Amino acid sequence: PVSRAGHLLDDLNPAQRRAVEHSGTPLLVVAGAGSGKTRVLTRRIAYLLAERDVHPGQIMAITFTNKAAAEMKERVADMVGARARSMWVSTFHSMCVRVMRREAKTLGMSSNFSIYDSDDTRRLITLVARDLDLDPKKYPARTLAIHISNLKNELIDTETATADATNDLERRVAEVYTVYQRRLTESNSLDFDDLIMKTVELLQTFPDVAEHYRRRFRHVLVDEYQDTNHAQYTLVRELVGVAGGEIPPAELCVVGDADQSIYAFRGATIRNIVEFERDYPDATTILLEQNYRSTQNILTAANAVISRNPNRRDKSLWSDLGEGEKIVGYVADNEHDEAAFVAREIDNLVDSGEVNNSEIAVFYRTNNQSRVFEEIFIRLGLPYRVVGGVRFYERREVRDALAYLRTLANPEDTVSLRRILNVPKRGIGERAEACVSAYAERERISFAAALRDLDRVPMLNPRSRNAIAGFVEMMDELGEMVAREDDVADILEAVLEKTGYRTELEASEDPQDHTRIENLNELVTVAREFTELELPEGAEPVPSLPAFLERVSLVADADSIPDAESDGVVTLMTIHTAKGLEYPVVFSTGWEDGVFPHMRALGDPAELAEERRLAYVGITRAQRRLYLSRALVRSAWGQPSANPASRFLGEIPQDLLDWRRVEPSRSGPAAATTWGRSASGGIASRGLSRPAPSKAGWKDAPAMKLEVGDRVTHDKYGLGRVVAVDGAGLRATATIDFGGSGTVRLMLIGSVPMTKL
Ligand code: ATP
Ligand code: MG
Repeated sequence: PVSRAGHLLDDLNPAQRRAVEHSGTPLLVVAGAGSGKTRVLTRRIAYLLAERDVHPGQIMAITFTNKAAAEMKERVADMVGARARSMWVSTFHSMCVRVMRREAKTLGMSSNFSIYDSDDTRRLITLVARDLDLDPKKYPARTLAIHISNLKNELIDTETATADATNDLERRVAEVYTVYQRRLTESNSLDFDDLIMKTVELLQTFPDVAEHYRRRFRHVLVDEYQDTNHAQYTLVRELVGVAGGEIPPAELCVVGDADQSIYAFRGATIRNIVEFERDYPDATTILLEQNYRSTQNILTAANAVISRNPNRRDKSLWSDLGEGEKIVGYVADNEHDEAAFVAREIDNLVDSGEVNNSEIAVFYRTNNQSRVFEEIFIRLGLPYRVVGGVRFYERREVRDALAYLRTLANPEDTVSLRRILNVPKRGIGERAEACVSAYAERERISFAAALRDLDRVPMLNPRSRNAIAGFVEMMDELGEMVAREDDVADILEAVLEKTGYRTELEASEDPQDHTRIENLNELVTVAREFTELELPEGAEPVPSLPAFLERVSLVADADSIPDAESDGVVTLMTIHTAKGLEYPVVFSTGWEDGVFPHMRALGDPAELAEERRLAYVGITRAQRRLYLSRALVRSAWGQPSANPASRFLGEIPQDLLDWRRVEPSRSGPAAATTWGRSASGGIASRGLSRPAPSKAGWKDAPAMKLEVGDRVTHDKYGLGRVVAVDGAGLRATATIDFGGSGTVRLMLIGSVPMTKL
């Protein structure tokens, strides 16, 4: 065993080793990012098994995600073999489900209880609020749900909430909470927060049950302790037990970093880590100071940003990996330019052989920012995977909206037509649909044709008949816009209005539905940009609806996306999702005030501090190369909005940064990119938002300033003469007569594959 211990301790520094070997008293390992906290936790488990004769069944380890749990289990198994299997390594929630399935009867529940996710919870609260006659404007279900969740995270039960309510809101919340809880029990269900709260209740109310678990789990280990809430804190205490009882307390080891606490909105409190020594008076604390993940430049930047947060304990984190590359900064004209920059840079890095795609990650603040990256990556054939969050064009609402457009463009598209026939609900039930379908089949006519031949469709009740007639009439009205060749963005807007799709989402209390509205607005933005592409003079205009659909279906074509599990893909995710992970190359995007930090943090010091911790988490994911980018203009709700630089960017010492591109006013004339299309023109290459010109063209063209009369040569259009120059700065355009290729108006932002002669 000594040799094995040697093996397990060899590649640890003295502080890490102490943490692995420590025995007896509660242990807290606090340290900055990348200092080996998770490594210590994993190693400690292996060490317990290999060196301290601990049985795997005596170990309970808590991680923040299921994926992290699986990885930890695998690592331990690598070190000590298959017997690692009987350990409990899981998230708090999975662990509690396990306990509750076993012990449900003790609490008077049946063990096949269902678990309500946040969606179900919201729905049930809506019903309860309605039954209690609450004004949904004054008490939206979403707000009620947050309050109830907060109460549960604080382990406040319905009686206490009722007794302690001091104002109208609190009384209402307590009332809803009480009825909601009764309904949950009646349906033999637990919501997410109940899982923790009920487990705590179980352990506190039934000493023999608590004793059973305390006897069994002699080691409790918790990763990411800074993101535990009060209920989870209490759960750990109950599991560990207290000194002086019949069973000595279990050995507790928690690791964390107060600077990486980013889940306050779920009730997480750094109090748990900051006051660990008060909670466990005989605790030992070990600090780790060497970072093994990142180069010094990256660390210095991270330290500089986080040091602006008030009330924190300063840490001195260092790395001996050398200064490394400077952090690359890039100011894009807009989000498309930013995505193009990221794609171009990935291309360069991979071409040079320095890294492969799977060593690269792209981060953003919120899920809906993934769309622009996905589009350009798909277009360039750059394999990627989005972690968490459904891909934009696969989202239900986006698919619904596109199904309407497809049906309008081609009424014979039965799949699309049937998808939206009763979406939003308009009283055309499955039975009615089946009648129409059977009739169409018998008569050998299309489904759409059958809808117009209602009088002859048998078995239809009058209500369905009316509903279908209304639907057909609405589609005819929309169809007129298509016949007139209205702009696709206008048609899409009309679809969202006339169908009631948007209104239905707006009326919903479910925050997911609000995200859906954002996604639909995003789709309108896409359509608007497509519409505003300028055609060369004299070019035959293609009706925008079919062109748009063809363009979008190329993007949505799942075949162009590699298998999610396959290696060699770039990873896209939010910074929240990236917690605990590391990548050789990180692109962190959208560093704009109002985006990151998020809008709602701008006027709120506590939220701003949380956003700054998020920045710290983002920066410290990078091992060798870090890119920070922002866009001068970003479309939001179909409107471009000018965003100032993120205040966090200014907090990074500027000598660590290598600005590849700064704001135009500081760099002279804007480097330029076309909005345009390739002269060879298929719809596929006609950039919805931004085209992918030939590779040679869009890697580094020189910046230029144009005047009327200048002669130019363009990679695709050939020789031309500038006939007009309009706008300034971001909106600068040049109209150029390319002779045989027609007259083209180009936007002079980004880089144009064009040379002034
Ligand atoms: P975070 O705060 O982001 O969760 P962490 O403190 O958990 O980070 P780890 O992920 O455990 O840090 O370690 C960061 C990286 O450093 C990992 O690649 C790990 O393998 C490596 N590492 C940690 N300790 C050592 C060591 N003593 N020698 C070599 N590499 C180490
Ligand atoms: Mg970690």
